[in-house]
Amino acid sequence: MKITEAVKSGRILISDGAWGTFLQQKGLKPGECPELWNLDRPDDVRAIAAAYIAAGADMVESNTFGGNRFKLAHYGLADRVAEINEAGARLSREAAGDHRHVIASIGPTGEILIMEDVSEEEMYAAFKEQAVALAKCGADAICIETMSALDEAELAVKAVKENTACEAICTFTFERSVNGDYRTMMGVSPEQFAEAMLAAGADIIGANCGNGMERMIEIVKRLRAAEPAIPILVHANAGLPKNVNGVDVFPESPEQMAAWVPALVEAGANIIGGCCGTTPEHIKAMKSML
Ligand SMILES: [Zn+2]
Repeated sequence: MKITEAVKSGRILISDGAWGTFLQQKGLKPGECPELWNLDRPDDVRAIAAAYIAAGADMVESNTFGGNRFKLAHYGLADRVAEINEAGARLSREAAGDHRHVIASIGPTGEILIMEDVSEEEMYAAFKEQAVALAKCGADAICIETMSALDEAELAVKAVKENTACEAICTFTFERSVNGDYRTMMGVSPEQFAEAMLAAGADIIGANCGNGMERMIEIVKRLRAAEPAIPILVHANAGLPKNVNGVDVFPESPEQMAAWVPALVEAGANIIGGCCGTTPEHIKAMKSML
């Protein structure tokens, strides 16, 4: 069953939690390419996906967030996009088995179209290359995430829809301004995002990172008001970070975070998981709230 069909049947689905901090726990060093672990440390990567599945997640992402050729070029790995993404999707598929979904991760390229860093054609080709590799090795859906620019996200959604059979999920990262409004770093409002992603062909929209559950409720209300029918996914941080000795610490416990789940569902969310600071314990606590 497709994720959108499961949502339409009335189920609330649970997604997974953070990957970056998990990789660090397993020994990823600053300056190391996280996605290269798909080839060099496959057992550790598969274990992360398996931990979220064991916690009760209905779907799991993949270790491919920075797996586009622009990001991999920083590590001299631009010619290994297919290999790295295929391995990442395969490892999550092995952990998910046949009865859980793999929503393979695609993050921003780090290039800005309006600055003419790259052309639209080059950016589209990079997303296509990554999406095709992910689809080939087991992705059911592609989760385009942490986006802030409409033009870049539109190209990513189109690259997924035009070149794979995967469902396209797209989540933006919104920041709260002093007057309580929400915009991305590039100035996009939740309403502008929702309208543009629907037009581009996204199957599921939502928000990730930047906010804890409390602020995600406000964002989801606006997305739901703008688009009454589309499934909404939320990957919230474990609260707002507190700087402790130069390190960001995410303060919400699994129980504190899970306590927001009913209000988030009430606001219109259909799929709920975590971003920075969340662990399998957070996912387990959210699952038990349903
Ligand atoms: Zn995050």
